[in-house]
Amino acid sequence: MSADKFFNAIQLLRCPVCGAAFSKTGASLVCINGHTFDPSRKGYVHFAPNVSPSQYDRELFEARRRILEAGFYDPVTDAIRAAMPKEPNVVLDAGCGDGTFTKRLQGKTTVGIDLSKDAILLAARGGGPILWAVGDLTRLPVADTSVDVVLNLFSPAHYAEFTRVLKPDGMLLKLVPGEGYLREIRTLMGDRLRRETYSNEAVVSHLSERLRVTDRVPVTYTLPLNAGQAKDLIRMTPLTFGTGPEALDASALSKITIDVEILIAKK
Ligand SMILES: [Zn+2]
Repeated sequence: MSADKFFNAIQLLRCPVCGAAFSKTGASLVCINGHTFDPSRKGYVHFAPNVSPSQYDRELFEARRRILEAGFYDPVTDAIRAAMPKEPNVVLDAGCGDGTFTKRLQGKTTVGIDLSKDAILLAARGGGPILWAVGDLTRLPVADTSVDVVLNLFSPAHYAEFTRVLKPDGMLLKLVPGEGYLREIRTLMGDRLRRETYSNEAVVSHLSERLRVTDRVPVTYTLPLNAGQAKDLIRMTPLTFGTGPEALDASALSKITIDVEILIAKK
């Protein structure tokens, strides 16, 4: 039953190995070259069986989800939604993580892809219409010129693939951290932080090589934190990778600054 959504949207998908269209054979998606993928009863397809697991793990995604559900990123979500066309037909969330943003930014048809199986399992929990896929952003299992909005939120990008899947009038919304993002955690880390300052200019310049940047929307605010949320934030941020979250004193964090930029680009 939960596999039906994939067969209903079969035109939107393509084989990530060879790029051919899929047809339905029994309970499988099969391309003309015989590459076969079976939608799971849990509501997702595993398109990248040979990829080794990423450094993200379930604990991290669960911490991230608690933070998202507590509303820390609601103003960011609202700003992204405001930049999107009304009721887009097809939305692709490339690097969707646990899917919390994806669910709030859905189109009529929505695909959420992440390389982490842990993240996709969490995203697919509870069912729903979104087409969840474990997949590689460098080989999207999505047909050419089929997507109205590509979301790329706090995730690495692959602009050649984004350009391929976008409709001629499609739009990329890329969310990147700003200079003051999680400022309080950076301060707490002090000398252990690998990079002191952060600038988006390199990101924008790289993006501009492939797509036309039409707007940049900054979103900045500071919110109070309770003790559990401070721990979750320290756990979920890539800033602390390599340091070990337990090395930081979560009790010293009583507020957090969210400072991000939404980069809007078209073909
Ligand atoms: Zn194939």
